[in-house]
Amino acid sequence: MKNQRKIIHIDMDAFYASIEQRDNPELRGKPVVVGGNPQGRGVVATCSYEARKYGIHSAMPCKTAYKRCPYAIFVRPRFEVYKQVSYEIRNIFHKYTDLVEPLSFDEAYLDVTENKLNIKYATEIAKLIKKEIYEKTGLTASAGVSYNKFLAKLASDYNKPNGLTIIREDNTQSFLDNLPISKFFGVGKVTQKVLHNLGIKTGYDLRQLDVNELESIFKNRGYLFYQLSRGIDHRPVEPHRERKSIGAETTLIENLDIEDEKLINILDELCEEVADRANYLKKRGKTVVLKVKYGDFTQITRSMSVNNPISSHEDIRTNIYNLFKNIEHNHQDIRLIGVTLSNLINEEVTNITFFEYIKSIESEKK
Ligand SMILES: [Mg+2]
Repeated sequence: MKNQRKIIHIDMDAFYASIEQRDNPELRGKPVVVGGNPQGRGVVATCSYEARKYGIHSAMPCKTAYKRCPYAIFVRPRFEVYKQVSYEIRNIFHKYTDLVEPLSFDEAYLDVTENKLNIKYATEIAKLIKKEIYEKTGLTASAGVSYNKFLAKLASDYNKPNGLTIIREDNTQSFLDNLPISKFFGVGKVTQKVLHNLGIKTGYDLRQLDVNELESIFKNRGYLFYQLSRGIDHRPVEPHRERKSIGAETTLIENLDIEDEKLINILDELCEEVADRANYLKKRGKTVVLKVKYGDFTQITRSMSVNNPISSHEDIRTNIYNLFKNIEHNHQDIRLIGVTLSNLINEEVTNITFFEYIKSIESEKK
């Protein structure tokens, strides 16, 4: 174990719903859905653990949530309050380290390899942070402790709510081997289907494929899956990361005619990869960019912008397909295609997402 990093991932439990239950005792112990009107177009922002028992989850349309549990109490979000609590929590993190990378209001990575209090064990720090969050805010958090970001996040998710899970080098492989592939970073619904069709259901199954097989199936994501199935992740904790774009591209194994339907499938995969990463980073973008490189190495890019920032696989795909439909046929085969989402909006910095969310709720009222 040489110079192993000590990474903690902290994730608040049902953050918005827990704050609502904290501030309104009548909501405690009940299924609470924070989101829009149950009859409107809004989606569930967060719901309490009691609501999750009915199969309600975040991003689900409120109408569906209502169908699953008509007794659920629907509460409108109070983002100003959530933001305030988020700052309180952030201040606690900074007592230990300034290497804090927030993923959203309620989630962050901390690198405590070197920490301000010279505490030797990351687990000790995780315990102290959980305790202090509870004392200051009355809320519980789940913590994951490991030696990289991928594992720390899996660990915090492992035992919720109010959990503390440690993944050490010597138990990493058995942890990953037992993990359903849907839990792996970068595996969305489409990828999951591809893997299931190959009979791959767990991390163990994934690890049986060698890197060439993985790359032939998943192109540039193949190597990522190869590494993740072995618990390898070198990404640093980045405190002030401001991403300008999220892109994925692939050089085709053989040049393809523009009419070849394989291109559509490859584009679809690239859109999924971009969407997965955008969602993981909690970003949305206003502009999609299609890049095409022809057999003679000439390259074109085409872009379009939308009014409401997007991040879903479907939204990105719709726009990319539109761009692709309209590129000119210059009698050249295509050797590379790429998809980029840019003009990114970070929920954390601008609140535009929240602002628009509130606007959508407001418009429901009318
Ligand atoms: Mg959370």
